[in-house]
Amino acid sequence: MRLSRYFLPVLKETPSEAQIASHRLMLRAGMIKQASAGIYSWLPLGFKVLRKLENIVHEEQIRAGHVPMLMPTLQSADLWRESGRYDAYGPEMLRIRDRQDRDMLYGPTNEEMITDIFRSHVNSYKDLPLTLYHIQWKFRDEIRPRFGVMRGREFFMKDGYNFDLTKEDALHAYNRHLVSYLRTYERMGLQAIPMRADSGPIGGDDTHEFLVLAETGESEVFYDSQITELTFGDREIDYTSVEECQAVMEEFTSRYARTDETHDEAVFAEVPEERRRVARGIEVGQIFYFGTKYSEPMGATVQGPDGKQVPVHMGSHGIGVSRLVGAIIEANHDDKGIIWPEGVTPFHVGIVNLKSGDAEADAACDALYAAFTAKGLEPLLDDTNERAGGKFATMDLIGLPWRITVGPRGLKNGVVEVTSRRTGESEEMSPEAAIEKIAGIYAAL
Ligand code: ATP
Ligand code: MG
Repeated sequence: MRLSRYFLPVLKETPSEAQIASHRLMLRAGMIKQASAGIYSWLPLGFKVLRKLENIVHEEQIRAGHVPMLMPTLQSADLWRESGRYDAYGPEMLRIRDRQDRDMLYGPTNEEMITDIFRSHVNSYKDLPLTLYHIQWKFRDEIRPRFGVMRGREFFMKDGYNFDLTKEDALHAYNRHLVSYLRTYERMGLQAIPMRADSGPIGGDDTHEFLVLAETGESEVFYDSQITELTFGDREIDYTSVEECQAVMEEFTSRYARTDETHDEAVFAEVPEERRRVARGIEVGQIFYFGTKYSEPMGATVQGPDGKQVPVHMGSHGIGVSRLVGAIIEANHDDKGIIWPEGVTPFHVGIVNLKSGDAEADAACDALYAAFTAKGLEPLLDDTNERAGGKFATMDLIGLPWRITVGPRGLKNGVVEVTSRRTGESEEMSPEAAIEKIAGIYAAL
């Protein structure tokens, strides 16, 4: 992309309504614009990051054997009356009436709808196990929308639902989700710690929330510091293996890690004092096992091996895709702007032309642009007439991990400058070496 033809409405001033860094930086970097309280337009740069996160979630869900689909945002109230949640959900649910006077709602989650789909089409235990998911906009009329996309009213969420014959099978689905979530967050450059949590209006006994540690997080968390030393890394996991998924689940959940809802001072006191941590975290996902809570009242049964009809065991599993954009920025920024992890950056490399209009500099930038594009990478070329200081400030603000600076003086010596956004370190090298270096980093992801 050439900046002269893009739409990147960066703000010079710090917006006064933004209380935390990610919200401030998303507004300043021209990623979002508020449409009304807790509802945002995703401008081109923000939309690119949102799509990248969505793709990572899809890839990891499909890798785990889960099946993508898409359900609508608007739902009929009747389904929610069947489960008993139409009255139970409270004012967070946006209720709508259509022209036929039918009660509708903007889905805050999809347990009822997926259970209806399941009961309409699946009759036999032979069709299990099954996990269906979608990534779709949700609406919850939050009492206090704040922090930009972190606590919006309209937000983008992956929600998946498993259907299993037995409790053991459903617990395997639970563990499988836990493993796939660990991988998902690590690919986004985040450490998200599974913590024992409370189930809230979804219901159920077994549940973990995934929390990214951040001072601005809304949840108070209590954990054993040993847990922050664990990484999933590039291990290969057989998602169909009950033992392998269970082993990872136990490895990542055996140490003390709880949100304030389930925190137990007496149990926490057993953690050696030097490892006890009290901090804040951002909830970026949650997994639940809730058994037959929806399948029983809604009649989602299958014929078991003995010929008897039994309600299926279910769980639901959510990732806050739009909240993650904010969470990643909260964990990766400095006073100049965002610092994108390579796995989610909107553009792979920024090219700054120090002298737009200079024939040699223009040609060198075009050649770099073409070379990166040919390698399947997306460069952002600042070909505007802004002065150098302004170009650097914009690149620092939007946070691309790598910048190549091209100017007539360097080109005389056959070099360009390659700068890491994270360390701020610069190195001079030939344009060919710069391409190789940066392409190599992305190829290794
Ligand atoms: P919270 O406790 O933060 O209100 P929740 O527990 O009600 O969230 P879930 O039903 O677990 O939310 O939804 C799955 C994920 O969707 C959450 O882990 C979170 O990342 C995201 N999410 C929930 N509410 C919002 C919101 N208002 N804005 C943005 N993301 C949200
Ligand atoms: Mg939750």
